[in-house]
Amino acid sequence: MTINTVEKNKSLEEMGLIEDGKIINLNPAKISEIVSSHEIDSEAQLEQKLIAADKAFKTWSKTPAPTRAKYLSKANEIFTAKKEELALTLHRENGKPLEEARGEIQEIIDVFEFFIGEGRRLYGMTGQSEMPNKTIMTTREALGPCVFITAWNFPAAVPAWKAAPALIAGNTFILKPSELAPLSGKLFVDVLNEAGLPEGVAQYAMGTGSVGEYLAKHPLSKLVSVTGSVEVGRHVAQIAAAGFKKCALELGGKNSTIVLRDANLELVLDGVLWGAYGTGGQRCTSTSRLIIERSVSDGFLKQLVAKAQDLYTDKPAINYAPIINKKQLEKIDNMVQRAIKEGAELICGGKILDDGSNSGYYYAPTILKAKHGSEITKKEVFGPVLSVIELEENTKEEFLNKALEIANDIEYGLSNAVYTQDFNLGMQAVHAFESGLVYLNAPTIGAECGGASQFGGWKNTGNGSRESGVAALETYTQYKTIAIDYSGKLQRAQIDID
Ligand code: NAD
Repeated sequence: MTINTVEKNKSLEEMGLIEDGKIINLNPAKISEIVSSHEIDSEAQLEQKLIAADKAFKTWSKTPAPTRAKYLSKANEIFTAKKEELALTLHRENGKPLEEARGEIQEIIDVFEFFIGEGRRLYGMTGQSEMPNKTIMTTREALGPCVFITAWNFPAAVPAWKAAPALIAGNTFILKPSELAPLSGKLFVDVLNEAGLPEGVAQYAMGTGSVGEYLAKHPLSKLVSVTGSVEVGRHVAQIAAAGFKKCALELGGKNSTIVLRDANLELVLDGVLWGAYGTGGQRCTSTSRLIIERSVSDGFLKQLVAKAQDLYTDKPAINYAPIINKKQLEKIDNMVQRAIKEGAELICGGKILDDGSNSGYYYAPTILKAKHGSEITKKEVFGPVLSVIELEENTKEEFLNKALEIANDIEYGLSNAVYTQDFNLGMQAVHAFESGLVYLNAPTIGAECGGASQFGGWKNTGNGSRESGVAALETYTQYKTIAIDYSGKLQRAQIDID
């Protein structure tokens, strides 16, 4: 699949988001407010940044990892001191409620804390040689300058998920933040430089997809990590493949929550509300499909509608996020209207919220009853829209089997949840879900970072890489096997047992 970056830029220009070679960063909750503007990097500037990243790599990669960790520790002190300031900026540029923005900055601090510790580990392997007086070991080595291409919905945390493991492993990087929320990424890099990272280790480049494409193609970049849509991920993966570069993909999702008749419905209510409407449904892990037993559905939906409508009254409440821009707002509405035309039943919402002042891009929290197989149940909406699929089966086991079949009949594989008080059925679902993240009695969103928690998806959501946990080090390192022969003679590999 090819991507027409010229067309994409044209639509950004039409929305007033690019003007005179600059990115214009608007507050989606108050579109009259310009949050920042940024010069788009020219190819010559990008070339200079790549050369600087390559030069810095030569010394940074040789700096001992515990020393690299000290730089990250210093940066974390600054992130902690500036938490409120960074959260306020994020809240303004992305629109997400301030409490969510604070949580996102805390995510930077947490992920750094974890990888600072890895600076004292970064384990390799030792093993047995086939020959006497010989030792074999394998170390992890850095790759070189990495390119991070990121989405707008987590403009601070996602760069940190990539940068912390990359830096501790000895790589340098250039972040190409989303043109729709570039300031938080820039400020993230500024903090790293304020912490004293050597020049060229941490940089950003401003621009649209074509800037990302230039960096991905350039022979000096050695890895490309993309968080974004499946379409962009596939395109960049093809570029990376042509240059034999490592490529890490964290892409879209279409996540299901399965509710059995024995579930604690109070818990489900809170989980689905937060999962479907947190960040305005603009998370890759957002709860997008609710697969529920018909016997409990009506009562449950009545309560869910009341709570969903409480998220806004005449004006959106402070804990309800706007949609990032006009184009996305219209895309969501078009998908909902098409679903209704195709036979889905609108339970609530289904409209653009207009408080008369045209202050922000808000979409009403929406619930539709839909049949599995329709567009709304299979394609990522990336907005506050929940499709409910009701099933009527004789037994809980029959329901669960059917629900799992539907949950897995999808191109994505990021996050799924099941609610039940039947432990055996719950665990069977956990094992049967085809996704990188699975939750039992908890919502599809809210992944933790660190040791045992590896963030990433199956199927078209990714290509096997993981972020935020220890598995991220697999992405940002390559193995070197070292054989040390202290026999003093030429030994030839053969196993002789007679
Ligand atoms: P997008 O794919 O439109 O853009 C993502 C990034 O790719 C941006 O920085 C953009 O400038 C860049 N880009 C666009 N065209 C490019 C090209 N031809 N070459 C190189 N770079 C290019 O996505 P978006 O709208 O910013 O974000 C929403 C998507 O991101 C959703 O699908 C969401 O599910 C996904 N997402 C996934 C995760 C995850 O971890 N799995 C996390 C957040 C968001």
